[in-house]
Amino acid sequence: MDSINRLHLLSEQMELEPAEERRENLARPVCFTPKQREAVFVHPAQLPNGQSIKLLKTLLTSACERDCYYCPFRAGRDFRRATFKPEEFANVFIELNRKGIAEGTFLSSGIAGGGIRTQDQLLDTADILRNKLGFRGYIHLKIMPGAEKAQVERSMQLADRVSINLEAPNTNRLAKLAPHKQFLDELLQPLRWLEEIRKKQPAYKGWNGRWPSTTTQFVVGGADESDLELLTTTAWLNKNVRLKRAYFSAFNPIADTPFENKTATDPLREHRLYQASFLLRDYGFDLEDMPFTDHGFLPLQSDPKLAWAQLNLAEHPVEINRAEKRELLRIPGIGLNGVEIILRLRQTGKIHDLSSLGRIGMNTKRIAPFVLLDGKQMARQLPLFP
Ligand code: SF4
Repeated sequence: MDSINRLHLLSEQMELEPAEERRENLARPVCFTPKQREAVFVHPAQLPNGQSIKLLKTLLTSACERDCYYCPFRAGRDFRRATFKPEEFANVFIELNRKGIAEGTFLSSGIAGGGIRTQDQLLDTADILRNKLGFRGYIHLKIMPGAEKAQVERSMQLADRVSINLEAPNTNRLAKLAPHKQFLDELLQPLRWLEEIRKKQPAYKGWNGRWPSTTTQFVVGGADESDLELLTTTAWLNKNVRLKRAYFSAFNPIADTPFENKTATDPLREHRLYQASFLLRDYGFDLEDMPFTDHGFLPLQSDPKLAWAQLNLAEHPVEINRAEKRELLRIPGIGLNGVEIILRLRQTGKIHDLSSLGRIGMNTKRIAPFVLLDGKQMARQLPLFP
């Protein structure tokens, strides 16, 4: 198979992997040359600085010696596998980059020859791209289970983002998903190292003068875990390793795996987990604020911020002209930008009606039941003839 055929196969197979940027942006197949039949799959992706790039998500190899129950790449599963050597991948990627087809890459791999050897292959690829081919664009590098601390540090020196997929929220749940992965030593430890390195070596920055951000991913519903378990681990990671983002991937059964007959997870559960994780990370919510059921699940029918407000703000609406930032952040329909806008508007005078917020794109119907404007509750004034 030539390089483009392999890249076609690997980037297509990566579509099977539940992962990160793909959940927000569908990949577009792009042909290498007008005559090329095999296309590579490129994702429109938004970087943390807001810049939009064409991201090539691929594997160095789709061969894997591990046997995670949910994974399409697990050892022994019968499908066509492909492998790149670091230099080969770097060369084919840089050609795509020069043709304007791919502006960045998310590089992962199946495990072949152990986590340490596989991490070396990923590092060699990034090193060639940065230091031999002069690539200055976006690299997201996956850290392999079992990678060593020095490899984690080297990854941080080469990438814009690094990720380690925990897959499950704790040791017991991981054992149900991936019998040969060790939660504490292989997965959580590298996440701790990332933060340790950031804290101890502030003087040495990443390749572009900043340490890379860190993300992780969970397979939702694969191990019968609760939302409480997933969000407890997420909250811990936010606090202790400065996680940039937790990705939640609703479990979907793959044919010819031990989980092929397991029921798929409702994608709405994934959506609610994202909403809750943003509340924990950005809105000052605590785990205790989450409207968990007795079994530790978020209600599917209502978003967690609205559910919290119905319990806590319906009888005690927030005075929008005087509330502190942390109180404004709790109002459904007002996001991070909305809070900043309200604070700015208040510097020049009072907000007299919600329509001024509606005109700048806020959802006033959602906001109205939970706020007061100079002591008046808007929602109760509106329906004169209910
Ligand atoms: S180690 Fe990764 S690629 Fe290999 S089977 Fe497990 S999840 Fe799949």
